[in-house]
Amino acid sequence: MRRIAAMLSTVSLVCAIMVAAAPAQAAPAQAAPASSVPSASARAAAAPRTVYLTFDDGPSATWTPRYLDVLKKYGAKATFFTTGQNAKAHRKIVARIHREGHLLANHTWSHADLTRLGKSTVKSQLTRTQTALGRYKSACMRPPYGATNTSVRRWTKEVGLKTVLWDVDSRDWENSQTATAIYQRVVRNVHNGSNVLMHDGGDSQRDSLAALKRILPKLKSMGYTFKVLPYC
Ligand SMILES: [Zn+2]
Repeated sequence: MRRIAAMLSTVSLVCAIMVAAAPAQAAPAQAAPASSVPSASARAAAAPRTVYLTFDDGPSATWTPRYLDVLKKYGAKATFFTTGQNAKAHRKIVARIHREGHLLANHTWSHADLTRLGKSTVKSQLTRTQTALGRYKSACMRPPYGATNTSVRRWTKEVGLKTVLWDVDSRDWENSQTATAIYQRVVRNVHNGSNVLMHDGGDSQRDSLAALKRILPKLKSMGYTFKVLPYC
């Protein structure tokens, strides 16, 4: 699944480059003095573009408040896919996420691989989490590990939730990743409308947080704004 997501991301990036390159090739080279033609980077900076940052596996008492501080500094909104058990354990952080304009969404109760469970357990993993999120719940669910199949998608729909994956994987979940590698992977692969997978829960998120502190100003300088997923 992650390989497929990465391939799709590469394909869309290539398509975007091809589309962007087409008008330039069609225009006569001598049509205007070079100085009056905005550079590619100037055109890119002027175009309004949106990126959807998503943070999985929290809330974490250690890390999530620090992520929220960084997001606030850059006026960025994001979507947090929380587990039900973490949402129940950290109600004040859940309330803060909502209060600061971010979106909360479902990441199962106990970070379960839903493809290994039967119908009633899958549904209870999802509905218990919706209950834990209470008035902060939304209509989206991301399956842990991106693991889903036809049955899981159908059962998810039956409890009123949409399945959401991603198209840019920061790979911050890999223990060997450095902040620089995470930063470069996101900045090089992101495009208008990208849904970027990152994590605020789980093991130490030191590198992921350090990467976020560089990703936000860089993408902002490229003309991006950061919004919550619009269809949840
Ligand atoms: Zn997860």
